[in-house]
Amino acid sequence: MKVRCPTCGREALYAPENPYRPFCSERCRLIDLGAWSNDEYVIEGEPGSADLLSPEDLQSASEERARLDAKALRADASPKRRTTRR
Ligand SMILES: [Zn+2]
Repeated sequence: MKVRCPTCGREALYAPENPYRPFCSERCRLIDLGAWSNDEYVIEGEPGSADLLSPEDLQSASEERARLDAKALRADASPKRRTTRR
């Protein structure tokens, strides 16, 4: 059975032989997860380790990301605030 890869739209094998189903590849699956879109490509070089991630791990990963985003926003906003105050 074949399905469309949700990430790139190519045909992907939907079978036990394809551990990344319904995606065509590990890359597409990771892109869809979205958690590794920055420079946090921790999984690279460790094939299969993504399958070991529990939902809790994914949860804390996204929380970590939210924290980093908030930090980046704050760092972004503070110089602006200083200029308006001056
Ligand atoms: Zn794909």
